[in-house]
Amino acid sequence: MNMQAVLSVAPRLERLRGFVTSFAELLASRSREDEVLEAGGALLARLVSRDDWLPDAYARPSPDGYRQYLLHCDSRERFSVVSFVWGPGQGTPIHDHRVWGLVGVLRGSERVETFRRRHDGELKSSGAPEYLREGDVDAFSLRTGDIHRVSNAREHEPSISVHVYGGNIGAVERATYDAQGRPKRFISGYANDTLPNLWDRSR
Ligand code: FE
Repeated sequence: MNMQAVLSVAPRLERLRGFVTSFAELLASRSREDEVLEAGGALLARLVSRDDWLPDAYARPSPDGYRQYLLHCDSRERFSVVSFVWGPGQGTPIHDHRVWGLVGVLRGSERVETFRRRHDGELKSSGAPEYLREGDVDAFSLRTGDIHRVSNAREHEPSISVHVYGGNIGAVERATYDAQGRPKRFISGYANDTLPNLWDRSR
């Protein structure tokens, strides 16, 4: 294979490097959550507007269920960036996050159902599901509600979204919920053992 061909298909990791650098700068300059979500959402919208940077290793679906690949974790664990890869028909149980989150669709489409906790502790659906398409960005927080159920809206193809969370999401102790709203302790971890190398600037 000639060098030009290799270069032309190499993932544009500098986009992800630029994103995490800008996000760290944002968190250093803003402390209000609504400002972080608004400005951070704009950064994420720019990142998912181009689908040429995510290495294949972090875009692979699994027949066993959706995959959550860690792409970057801030050294102070103020935020983490993951790729969420859905195979056809795959989805999450109802779950919470305990931190803020941003979701940007890179490839395909996903369906999001949000839930509110009623006074009696039961969960109530907030209404019709929302559909996010390529390039769309959504936000959630403890203030506006962080309980949802997400699934691939494509029946026959994988979908991929890029999420940013206000902590090291794979290590956060949180909960999934059954239909009656009963919580079950949950720490998600990550599907990968190695991360994309964002810091080799020679390429
Ligand atoms: Fe979620």
